[in-house]
Amino acid sequence: MNLASILFPGVEEKRPIVIAGPCSAETEEQVMKTAKGLASKGFKIFRAGIWKPRTKPGGFEGVGSEGLRWLENVKKETGMRVTTEVATQKHVEEALKHGIDILWIGARTTANPFAIQEIADALSGTDISVLIKNPVNPDLELWIGAIERINNAGIRRIGVIHRGFTSYDEKIYRNVPQWHIPIELKRRLPEIPIFCDPSHIGGRRELVASLSQQAMDLNYDGLIIESHCDPDQAWSDKNQQITPDVLSYIINLLVIRDSTQTTENLTELRKQIDATDNELLSILNKRMRISREIGQYKKEHNLPVLQTVRYDEILTGRINSAKHLGMSPEFMKILLEAIHEESIRQQMIVINS
Ligand code: PEP
Ligand code: MN
Repeated sequence: MNLASILFPGVEEKRPIVIAGPCSAETEEQVMKTAKGLASKGFKIFRAGIWKPRTKPGGFEGVGSEGLRWLENVKKETGMRVTTEVATQKHVEEALKHGIDILWIGARTTANPFAIQEIADALSGTDISVLIKNPVNPDLELWIGAIERINNAGIRRIGVIHRGFTSYDEKIYRNVPQWHIPIELKRRLPEIPIFCDPSHIGGRRELVASLSQQAMDLNYDGLIIESHCDPDQAWSDKNQQITPDVLSYIINLLVIRDSTQTTENLTELRKQIDATDNELLSILNKRMRISREIGQYKKEHNLPVLQTVRYDEILTGRINSAKHLGMSPEFMKILLEAIHEESIRQQMIVINS
């Protein structure tokens, strides 16, 4: 891939590169007040959504093109670079006309190759920076496909944003991080800078600091964080926005480790193990919960806890899949037996309660 830096003179390439600003541009006053707050804390890149993709109709869908003028004023008055989300050819054309420095492509758009191709065609012949969010669904190839479409249009200044993935199940996060997906993306495309969006992963402002630290420990290049001058009054995503002061406090507390030393590479790999183990834990937890639900069903329908045929099926099926994945069948057997034993124990508790 033919790539170049997404940054500009005056914006240091030091980790973390921070992009900050409100979820949505709401009024000229809110935009300017937030931007000035951020600029006074030394932040250099301002984000604000002016076309907002909403899950359902009837919500605030952004101020539209009028907001581009506000972003131009932010540039003029604070010297910050500005970025906004584009989803159609028209958005791209208008953003380019108003001197937006960086465009980002939202998670719902990345999931749609037709939309990405339309954006790529509209970008062709320009040299603008583009950040591509992961698609809402955990599909690495779709994410890489979007990067390739944009790059094939001649865009070299490309970065990616990890904003987590939709899930019905997860309660802690608004969007499950599934860290292994961006980690694999980085392994496959090491030259592309990667940003973490802890605001949309967490969905709650209390989670922004720890997710940001986790991203730094995994050697991400930057962070894109929602910041609003008055978060509780925000017209969209108010639970996850923080004031410029709080943002500055969080960024200053981050521990940034230099990953060029070998021991630091080891630390990074260990962080990846930690993240993977956390995922393993939540999957096991989910499995136990389903087991207890089965226990409840068996209790109500007077069925025995242990059904050997089913247990055999599980064991043989999973051991075969493990072989296909190149894992040891003996190991898989020991693991499944331990999991099954605990499932039975949990079901017994339910049945006897
Ligand atoms: C946003 O950044 O405000 C946004 C809409 O994000 P996403 O595309 O990640 O949902
Ligand atoms: Mn948002």
